[in-house]
Amino acid sequence: MIDEMRKRILAEARGILPWMIEIRRDLHQHPELGLEEYRTADRIQALLGEMGIEYEAGLGGTGVLGLIRGPNDGKVVALRADMDALPLEDKKEVAYKSKVPGKMHACGHDVHTTMLLGTARLLMQHKASLPGIVKLLFQPAEETVGGARLLVEAGALDNPKVDAIFGLHVDPALDVGRVGLHFGQRNASSDDLKVIVHGTSAHGAYPWEGVDAIVAAAQVVTALQTIVSRQVDAREAAVITIGVIQGGTQGNIVADRVELVGTVRCLTQETRRSVLRQIRERAEGVALGMGARAEVVIEPSYDPVVNDDGLLGIVRSNAQELLGEGNVVVFPRPNMGVEDFGFYLSETRGAYYSLGVRNEARGIVHQVHHGLFDVDESAMAYGVALQIMNAMKVLEPC
Ligand SMILES: [Zn+2]
Ligand SMILES: [Zn+2]
Repeated sequence: MIDEMRKRILAEARGILPWMIEIRRDLHQHPELGLEEYRTADRIQALLGEMGIEYEAGLGGTGVLGLIRGPNDGKVVALRADMDALPLEDKKEVAYKSKVPGKMHACGHDVHTTMLLGTARLLMQHKASLPGIVKLLFQPAEETVGGARLLVEAGALDNPKVDAIFGLHVDPALDVGRVGLHFGQRNASSDDLKVIVHGTSAHGAYPWEGVDAIVAAAQVVTALQTIVSRQVDAREAAVITIGVIQGGTQGNIVADRVELVGTVRCLTQETRRSVLRQIRERAEGVALGMGARAEVVIEPSYDPVVNDDGLLGIVRSNAQELLGEGNVVVFPRPNMGVEDFGFYLSETRGAYYSLGVRNEARGIVHQVHHGLFDVDESAMAYGVALQIMNAMKVLEPC
């Protein structure tokens, strides 16, 4: 029964494309920013209701969690879609362009939400042969506060406890009909960094009467750069960027305060812990050596996305079966950008991958977060078929 279903699944996904395109274009015209996805959440609830799927709303603010149970208990697979848009002007000239000035679905989260609804619809059609439970996670605020963490905190991965989670992101660098995979590390962690260097002001002509916070801050910036070059294993990767340096009031006054603001990116939790500890030690130690004092404030942002290679192997073999071996790209290197899917992967095994949506002939070539970003909507059939095959493979009794 399951094998039979796998063979039919792409045709079925293509069959619901017109329905999905209608939903996607509706969401696309009504983009909502993180934690404001009220209309989007309403639409999701209405559609889940129509399909007869039990759901819980208001998770982490505007999240919606759907549950599809097969006839017998089994494993639990979660599938996740993010829902939020970006504060960006939609520059496309298409009938379905954003109707909200200054807001746009420029990261394809409308497409992710639609694909999860399509996945839900087909899973419901096969509910009688579903060998376990599928959780549908419609997640808010990927672009802002990391809504994945809010869903984890709201218990979205518990009761019933999730055994594996799959997610995917549209990728305009990959042609439609292709899929991109990263084994192991996929995205970096991120931490917001602020270092306040405190000195003592004095007349610029008599600097020995004070402690120059600017000179101390300059030493701190240089010292922080040696953490990556000297203290991180050369086979790992990390980034420390100081993007803002502010201090002082006038050329003839020794500054008593300098603020450094930056971001830290690492590919594993282990490197992350070590780098953050060293930032604190270096900044405080170097400032002290200069007679100043450094106050280090680190705000944890996103966890790294580290794929489970076994589950990613499932995605690869499904994608090869569905799209052909030549259309499955394995990326050799991870991305230093972030994705809040890492919060799920800190709690459970999972795999996150890229779905090609590029179509050069139709001018669909712009990157995400660009005012001309769009997708080839036929990609949604591949996304739906793949997510169903991934879930089925994990749920299938061995
Ligand atoms: Zn984005
Ligand atoms: Zn995105």
